[in-house]
Amino acid sequence: MWTRETACRLIGALTRGDVTSARLCEEFLAAIETHDPVLRAYLHVDETRVMAQAQAIDERRGRGEPLGLLAGLPIALKDNLCVEGEPTTCASKILKGFRPPYDAHVVTRLRRAGAILLGKTNLDEFAMGSSTENSAFQVTRNPWDTSRIPGGSSGGSAAAVSAGLAPAALGSDTGGSVRQPAALCGVVGLKPSYGRVSRFGLVAFGSSLDQVGTLTHDVADAALLLQVIAGHDPRDSTCAAAPVPVYPDTLEEPIRPLTIGVPREFFAEGLAPEVEAAVRSALRVYEETGAKLVDVSLPHAPYALAAYYLVAPAEASSNLARYDGVRFGHRAGEHGDLQDMIARSRGEGFGPEVKRRIMLGTYALSSGYRDAYYLGALKVRRLIRNDFDAIFAKCDVVAGPTTPTVAFPIGSKADDPLSMYLADVYTISANLAGLAGISIPCGFSGDGLPIGLQLLGAPLSEDRLLRVARSYERVTDWHARRPETFA
Ligand code: GLN
Repeated sequence: MWTRETACRLIGALTRGDVTSARLCEEFLAAIETHDPVLRAYLHVDETRVMAQAQAIDERRGRGEPLGLLAGLPIALKDNLCVEGEPTTCASKILKGFRPPYDAHVVTRLRRAGAILLGKTNLDEFAMGSSTENSAFQVTRNPWDTSRIPGGSSGGSAAAVSAGLAPAALGSDTGGSVRQPAALCGVVGLKPSYGRVSRFGLVAFGSSLDQVGTLTHDVADAALLLQVIAGHDPRDSTCAAAPVPVYPDTLEEPIRPLTIGVPREFFAEGLAPEVEAAVRSALRVYEETGAKLVDVSLPHAPYALAAYYLVAPAEASSNLARYDGVRFGHRAGEHGDLQDMIARSRGEGFGPEVKRRIMLGTYALSSGYRDAYYLGALKVRRLIRNDFDAIFAKCDVVAGPTTPTVAFPIGSKADDPLSMYLADVYTISANLAGLAGISIPCGFSGDGLPIGLQLLGAPLSEDRLLRVARSYERVTDWHARRPETFA
């Protein structure tokens, strides 16, 4: 069955002519039709457009034209990535019906590589959340246990890949939104370094933190997708002009000697024993394959969550000021003057978590508090980066758990935002410091729920990070497991 295969194997099959893109897309569309009414991973799938793209690629292949790296491969997109002429809602009522007049840079790259845009996946509204429960439209379920959350905010993308409703997907990661749902759904989630991938056309949340990332079945697929989306784009001034290595080419070369830093702060109170056990045994696997583990410290890690929840809402409050009901998005039906129209449109359009973030951020930036809160958070952020720089001077990567617990039941944290924020305690430091990060499957809980190992690398060290991740995958088979229900 094609829907269980990795992207690399599907591309192999397409290239050899074992399957056509049209046939592949039919299988994925059929899987979506069968399973998505339960899983609710997708917000929008346009079957006619999917099949038209697939047929066009098949015809070009038939004529012997040179095709891109992803020719004929369907890929799902988180619904905060703009696709020209297609709905892009950010799972918010304020953008219901909005169709962007342009493609995000990563979408342009995917199209150029011959990928088929399969559909738009669910997320927490404007990517604010850790469970995908903050979507204004639907709650996505975890394919390993449908009474549980898939993680978030790229929960739709992670669930779709895990359940075989897409062979690969793109998401975005501002504080863990690719790595955390990847860990909870048992797939690979790669967050490239700040600057590695253009965010042009990614709807902005926290502009100093946001990055586009990949959700795939394995590390080879992550390397392939990164190859396609990475690199300079003048339309995002934060995008690095650094050369992009050919990631898939060096993937099988192990790093010797390999030194892995294990920060004691990543094994703190609140870490579920089952998660700790799985991560510790993954570290033993590395040791058995010749890696050296070093005990390191991130003394400022305990302040990362507090710093993040000042910086991210501050930037969000500014970024989301553009939704005013004037040029696009929702406009209140009944209103008085301009002020009233804006207030009502925003009041009706945004959900509770987004409003909470806007209020927190506006407060943190307000006169008299800005120095104490926002600037204080920026200083902590610098110290966190310094901690990592010191570690990367002697270690190739840093390793630890991706999440403190396995996927939790739907509704269990809905009334307690603080406990929800804690789900990101291990992932946010990478965003504050601009690092590259990846979550790879490393085991299961007693209840059969996936557990992720997080590896972090210095900025722009994705090639090394991917090789380290691949060397674990080569000697384990966690990444090859698929949830039974969605066979
Ligand atoms: N869960 C975090 C938040 O709510 C991170 C979200 C993200 O990475 N987009 O802000």
